[in-house]
Amino acid sequence: MTINLDALRHNLAIAKKSSPLSKIVAVLKANAYGHGAVEVAFAIQDRVEMFAVSSIEEAMHLRDAGLTRPVLLLEGCFSENELAQAAAFDFSVVFHSEYQVNALEKQSLTKPLSAWLKIDTGMHRLGVYPDSALRLYQRLKQSNKTRDLVTLMTHMASADLLDEPYTAQQLAIFKQVKKHIIASGASDISTSIGNSGTILGWDEGRSDFVRPGIMLYGLSPFDVPHPEADKLLPVMSLQSKIIAIRTIDKGERVGYGSTWEAPQPSRIATVAIGYGDGYPRNAKSGTPVLVRGKRACLAGRVSMDMLSIDITHIPEVRMGDTVTLWGESLSANEVARWADTIGYELVTRMPLRVPKTYILSET
Ligand SMILES: *Cc1c(COP(=O)(O)O)cnc(C)c1O
Repeated sequence: MTINLDALRHNLAIAKKSSPLSKIVAVLKANAYGHGAVEVAFAIQDRVEMFAVSSIEEAMHLRDAGLTRPVLLLEGCFSENELAQAAAFDFSVVFHSEYQVNALEKQSLTKPLSAWLKIDTGMHRLGVYPDSALRLYQRLKQSNKTRDLVTLMTHMASADLLDEPYTAQQLAIFKQVKKHIIASGASDISTSIGNSGTILGWDEGRSDFVRPGIMLYGLSPFDVPHPEADKLLPVMSLQSKIIAIRTIDKGERVGYGSTWEAPQPSRIATVAIGYGDGYPRNAKSGTPVLVRGKRACLAGRVSMDMLSIDITHIPEVRMGDTVTLWGESLSANEVARWADTIGYELVTRMPLRVPKTYILSET
C-alpha cells in the first residue's frame, strides 16, 4: 500500500481551517489508524501541538523513535507505575475514573504531569460523572502532582450524524461542568472536545484543543456529502496486480462456494490480494475496485490471498494491470459499506504483511 503524507498534511490543514483557534492533538492510536504512527508523526510533528494514543506502549513507541512532542494517553494510566513513566517521558494523562486519581495521590513522581480530566457527558464509555467533576478536579489540583493547567475533555457519541440533537445536549452538559468549575475559582483550565465529526460539523464544539483522527487520514466521518469533509484526500491507497485472466461462459460460477454466477459470457481477472492482506472477506459481490481508471466489481467470495473481479466491460485490461482496492477516487468508506463496516476499521486493521511505501514530496 501507499501512504501519501502530502495528503495527510493537506487534511491537517483542513482541520486547522475548520477550528482555527484550536491547538491540534493528532490522534495516532492503533498505529495511526494503520498508517504507521512513527512516519505519520514525523510528517506532522512541527504542525501540531501534541499526539494522542491509547496506551503507554504506543506512547513509548513514539519516544523510542525520537519524537519529542507531548503525547496524550487517551485512556490514562492503568497502574501507578505507568504514572511515574508518564511523568518522566512527558506524557499527558487522562483521568477518567476516580481510581486513577487515587493512584496519582499515592504515587510519588519525579516531576508534575499534565492532567486531562475526562467528563462523561453522554457517551457512557469513559469519564467521570458531571456531578463529581469539580471534586475530582480539586483533588487533582491538591495532589500537587499536576501542572498548572488542567484540561477538561469530553467525547461525542454521535458527532458524525449532523442532525442528531444528542451532540447539542452533550455540549450543553460540558458547558455546565466547565462553568461550575470556573465558578469555584478555577482560572487555569482549558478544554478539549472535538473528534473529526465535531471539528467539521459542529461550530459550537470548538475548544482549546481538538483531537482529529479519521479526517487526518482522509476519510470523511460523515455518511452524507459535506463541503469540507469532501475536500479530504485519502492517505492510504491499497493496490495489487492482476495475476490471471480467463473467459467463462454464461452460467459458470466463480470462487469458493460458487456464489457468483456469470450473467453472460464474462472476462474474469484474478487479483493478488485477499483477506490475509486486510481486504474484508465479507465484501459482497458487486463491491467496486478500480482498474485502468474504471470501476469493476468483485465477483464471488474473497479468498485469503486473491479475489476475482468482472472485467467484461473493460476489454483493455491486461495481465499485470494495477488494481486499486481503495484510495484516490474510491474511498475506503464506500468499500466498507459493501462489507458492513466503516472505513475506520478497514484502514486500521491492515496486517503487517502488506508493505507500506511512503510519499512525501516537500519537507
Ligand atoms: C479516537 C479518538 C478521537 C479521534 O476520533 P476520530 O473520529 O477518528 O476523529 C478523538 N478523541 C478520542 C477520545 C478518541 O478516542
